[in-house]
Amino acid sequence: MTTGPDHNKTNLRTHDCGALRDADAGKTATLCGWMDSKRNHGGVLFISLRDLYGVTQVVANPGTAAFQAAEESKAEYVLRVTGKVTPRPQGMVNPKMPTGGIELVAEKIETLNISQPLPFDLGEHAGVLEDTRLKYRYLDLRRGKVARNLVLRSKVAGLVRSNLLAKGFNEIETPMLTRSTPEGARDYVVPSRMNPGHFYALPQSPQVFKQLLMVAGMDRYFQLARALRDEDLRADRQPEHTQIDVEMSFVTERDVAAVVEDMLGAVFSGLGENIETPFPEMEFADAMLRYGSDKPDLRYELEIQDCSQLFKASGFKVFAEALAAGGVVRGVKGEGGAAVYSRGETDKLTETVKKAGAKGLLWFRLKDGKLESPALKFLSEAETSSVKDFFDMKEGDIVFMVTGPAAQAAPQLGLVRNELIKKLKPAQARKWAFLWVRHFPLLEKDAESGHWTFTHNPFTAPLTEELPMLDTDPGGMRSCQYDLVLNGVELGSGSVRNHSRAVQEKIFGLMGYSKEEVQRRFGMIVNALDFGAPPHGGIGIGFDRLIGILCGTDSIRDVIAFPKTASGSCLMSDAPSAIDERQLKELHLKITQ
Ligand code: ASP
Repeated sequence: MTTGPDHNKTNLRTHDCGALRDADAGKTATLCGWMDSKRNHGGVLFISLRDLYGVTQVVANPGTAAFQAAEESKAEYVLRVTGKVTPRPQGMVNPKMPTGGIELVAEKIETLNISQPLPFDLGEHAGVLEDTRLKYRYLDLRRGKVARNLVLRSKVAGLVRSNLLAKGFNEIETPMLTRSTPEGARDYVVPSRMNPGHFYALPQSPQVFKQLLMVAGMDRYFQLARALRDEDLRADRQPEHTQIDVEMSFVTERDVAAVVEDMLGAVFSGLGENIETPFPEMEFADAMLRYGSDKPDLRYELEIQDCSQLFKASGFKVFAEALAAGGVVRGVKGEGGAAVYSRGETDKLTETVKKAGAKGLLWFRLKDGKLESPALKFLSEAETSSVKDFFDMKEGDIVFMVTGPAAQAAPQLGLVRNELIKKLKPAQARKWAFLWVRHFPLLEKDAESGHWTFTHNPFTAPLTEELPMLDTDPGGMRSCQYDLVLNGVELGSGSVRNHSRAVQEKIFGLMGYSKEEVQRRFGMIVNALDFGAPPHGGIGIGFDRLIGILCGTDSIRDVIAFPKTASGSCLMSDAPSAIDERQLKELHLKITQ
């Protein structure tokens, strides 16, 4: 948001409400804005006049032409004030406001519009129910905080665009009315009036079209693309979101990564923040092992350790049975956590991991130089002291351990790690922790159908060296899929794609699709691979999430001008809404309940 002498000059105003400074004293200025507040000091009226850019104090003296309009004005009246910029008297200067050294002594006040009393107080700290805010979003935006977020969002969009355009990317729009794109969510469908019984799907992603643009030879594409997914909503989801969508030809994973790193470097430095590039990279399997998550928050170093070897010959049944079954014993240390993790807190954490399928949660704490644990009586002296040494435990530390199959122990300990971070608030090693998590499994078993299914996106290529495993061990194959993580949030995800029809068809086959089904659902892209599709890859980066992190808010509703509620409705427009009989008829639709 740019304020300043000439920026927002129009035929109705000379300055915006954030522009005037001490050096402007003596000038005549005309401002337009909303009446934020009014005070009467011994008959003199002081009005705070507000717009997007700031607030300027207007003074209306009794007996002047301006006084009557000032007197009649009420909250949120739209005023146009002409007056003399005057230094504020001693003691009235407000150093906290950029315009706090001056006031505008009104010569003329015009009421451009009146306002009814508002449904809620616009005071920044007023605790207004979110539903009320969303119903009157246009008033909520006047409150400043979300408006500032939208201004930042616009600035970041500009930084992204100029960075990518400078690198030779072309911004190309892809259709909103299309057909189903498989991104793992339900489609929003739109009935076609001219093709009875046929429906468009709104795009879950421009995925197929951006790949087709590569087949078309467009080489470097980007779009700030709207993606629509009909999912059960959570705090950080909206039915429509924006992604910085990128696709490039003749690339490896690292080429895509370098473009993203440079672009985000430009965004952060444009906002006065410094980030280190290239971002660290981690194998998916390694992230699960060390942090119990495919989106670890690396602002904190807290690492999970595999301590199976300490208990190889243990007489403790819990360890012995888990290890004999090919499982693991892993643990994570909470520095200084012994005091925080009283009995009650430990029980709560145990419940959390049990819900994630763990048999239990073992703890060891070092208090008054002695190790305490419910497992102590089952362990040998040597085992107990090896725990202390292995985890380098200091007085007041606590270690939590989980046993079981590695694939389950990892996410269970990931939950413990996240809880430890929340509760113990360990020192942050860095403010912005970016991470590439790479080489996700290509396929996973779908619990319902028993077929293999894609972990992210069915167009992702397998690692070239593992291609032969398509016939022998598809479940063990790793993919060219990468996620971008920032501070524990999955910010984006992308891959190098299959450009060979044979490989793509084989993967669809493993997912249980017949040749006909592949043709029907994905014919457009699969057929195009036949005509000289170049090697290509790309990424989609969650733009709302990025802005949310930059604005320090947990809810992406705070960075979207007109968001929907958790049940997917817009309280302002009342969407979704019923449509009338005539429209239904035209669309050949019948509502059956
Ligand atoms: N298709 C992915 C998505 O929309 C992005 C990508 O793989 O490029 O999330």
